[in-house]
Amino acid sequence: MAKAAAAAQSGLEKYTSGGFKTVIEQCEGCGRVVEVETNRYCQTFLSPEAKWRLGICNFATHAKPEVITASVKVNPLKASKRAANKGKK
Ligand code: SF4
Repeated sequence: MAKAAAAAQSGLEKYTSGGFKTVIEQCEGCGRVVEVETNRYCQTFLSPEAKWRLGICNFATHAKPEVITASVKVNPLKASKRAANKGKK
């Protein structure tokens, strides 16, 4: 029992050893946030700020990148003419 508690303790110590930086505002709501001694760290990345520098963090559980799709209007008359002409050539 004491071994398990010690193992759990050592697992959390990695966050306070200095390598991990605290999460940033954009990480709010993410499932990978761990709270250790009133500070909050990311389970996955040492520096959460770096993951958000170029856009949305690809491991975020609370935010997904927005996919922009362009809708193209097709004129049915022109489309049928185009299809008919395609067969002639
Ligand atoms: S996975 Fe990304 S969004 Fe989630 S806490 Fe870590 S850095 Fe923040």
